[in-house]
Parts: sequence; C-alpha cells; structure tokens
Amino acid sequence: MAADGGGWSPRASTRVAAVIGDPIRHSLSPLILNAAFRARELDWVYVAFPVEEGNAREALVAMRTFAIDGLSVTMPHKTAVAGAIERCTEVAAALRAVNCVVRTDDGELVGHNTDGSGFLSGIAEETGFAPAGQRCVIVGAGGAARAVAVALARAGAADVAIVNRTRANAEQAAVLAVPVGRVGASDDIERADLVVNATSVGMARREPAGLPFDPDRLHQGQILADLIYDPLTTPLLSAARTRGAITVNGVGMLVHQAAAAFELWTGVEAPIAAMTSALGAHLRQRG
Ligand code: NAP
Repeated sequence: MAADGGGWSPRASTRVAAVIGDPIRHSLSPLILNAAFRARELDWVYVAFPVEEGNAREALVAMRTFAIDGLSVTMPHKTAVAGAIERCTEVAAALRAVNCVVRTDDGELVGHNTDGSGFLSGIAEETGFAPAGQRCVIVGAGGAARAVAVALARAGAADVAIVNRTRANAEQAAVLAVPVGRVGASDDIERADLVVNATSVGMARREPAGLPFDPDRLHQGQILADLIYDPLTTPLLSAARTRGAITVNGVGMLVHQAAAAFELWTGVEAPIAAMTSALGAHLRQRG
C-alpha cells in the first residue's frame, strides 16, 4: 500500500474508530485521523456518527456492539460519557469530561481526556515551552480552558490564573488546577510568561469577531497561545505578534490531542507531520 493511502479501501478486516457529537458533519477529526492511518499504513478507518444529546450511554453500548476500537467524543457528550463509562483516567475524572474512549483487549471501555496533554505537546513542539515554574494566565473557563489549566498545574506551573467573563465559571476552573489555580484579573496578563485564549472570541463564523482582552497587555518575552484553529490567524494572534509576543494557534493542540488518541488506540507512534500537513492544507484551502 502506498504511504499516501493510494489503493487503500476498507475491507472486512478493517478496524473502525469514530467520533460522536452533534453537530458533527463539520468535524476535522476524520481528516486528521484518516491521514494518520494512511501515513502509518494501518488498516483502520475513522468515521463520524451524529449522536443527539442524551444518547451518550447508547453510543457506548453501540461501541461495544459494533466492536469499535476507538471513539472520540465531542460536544455535547464529553460530560455524559464521563458519567456513563465504567472507568476514567484520573485526569478525565477530575475534569468530568471524556474526549477519547479506549476499548481494552478484555473489552473494558476506558475514558481519557487528551485535550490538556495535547495542548502541552503542541506548545512544546512549536516553542519549547516547559510549564515548570511558569506564570500562566488562561482567559476563558469552559471545557478547553479547564483541560489546559489542569495540565499546566500538573506539569508544575507556578501560577495558573483564570480570567473569565463569568466569575463563577472561573472559580470552578481554578479549583480544578490544584494547587496553583486561582481566579485572576486582566492585570495578571502583563505579568504572565504564557497567556492562553480559551474563549471562543475570534472563531470563524462567530459574532462578534472581536478580541477577548486588550492586546496592549501583551509584550515581548511572552507566549500567546490561541486555542482557536479556524481561522489560522485570529485578530488576537495578529495583535500579539505586533507587540512582540511569540504566538501559537490551535492547530498544534488539535493535532496532538488526536495524536494521543491514535497512540492509545493503535499503540503506534502518531505521524504528527502527516496529520499537521493534512489539516493545514484543508484549512488553507477553505480560507
Ligand atoms: P466553552 O466550553 O463553550 O467555553 C467558552 C468560553 O468562552 C467561556 O469561558 C465563555 O465565558 C467564553 N466566552 C464566550 N464568548 C465570550 C465573549 N463574547 N466574551 C468573553 N468570553 C466569552 O468552549 P470550549 O469548548 O472551552 O472552547 C473554547 C475555544 O477553544 C473555542 O474557540 C474552541 O474552538 C477552542 N478549542 C480548541 C481546541 C483545539 O484542539 N485547538 C480544543 C477545544 C476547544 P463564560 O464562562 O462567561 O460563558
């Protein structure tokens, strides 16, 4: 079989991985993971199943019934799957959110969360950032912010300050990032080594397309990570570059969280370059 997958087509022996969510037809996970399976010449295929809210438990039953070997979980099912699955990793249990299900050799379903580790791997690859001893600010307090906060705290960050529009959500996220999580304020952005935008402000096809905070708080010597990957360059990333910060978009996190799932399912090292290249080509073509 050619490395680009030429000539490959599914057979009776083909192993299946899938993503469940609603909506799901826009998902980029099939693109990234099928690129990975083809690059490693694995007889696997990855498909998307639309599963309505409230049907997470049925989806897990279907995973068993159809012997699906790997399942990605996205909105709105991450919390429901964490509640319905027989076992979760410590991180997924703390977050009460599962984005990846592994079916073990003895048939047990185990829930993982690879968002936080995906973020750390992506930013390390692109900038060399190592969290130990670093002051971090996360703007936003939703599912992505929480995963990143927990990952930074567990990796030894000195401070994880959560700055969010709704204070109660910031408080809930900060509690998860023990022992260094706290609710922060905009002033913390200036003093941070790493600033993460984990709000949806700046996402393509969302209104308003503004900035999540005043970019004049950013400066040289900082890293600004925007978790958004569509568009590839958000208004915040442009503004941060102008002010001398090192910038990272959400592509690295998206690829590395998928890479972690690929490795959990197959036991094979993920082809990061092939996955990044497939995603980048698609996003540039889409514009
Ligand atoms: P979410 O759970 O819905 O959380 C959204 C967050 O954005 C909340 O903190 C919300 O604040 C804040 N927010 C929304 N609109 C805002 C506004 N106009 N002004 C200020 N704050 C606003 O979403 P999520 O799943 O965490 O995703 C957040 C972002 O991360 C999205 O852009 C998503 O595409 C991106 N993401 C990327 C990856 C990746 O792999 N690169 C993975 C996951 C998510 P309130 O608490 O006040 O509502």
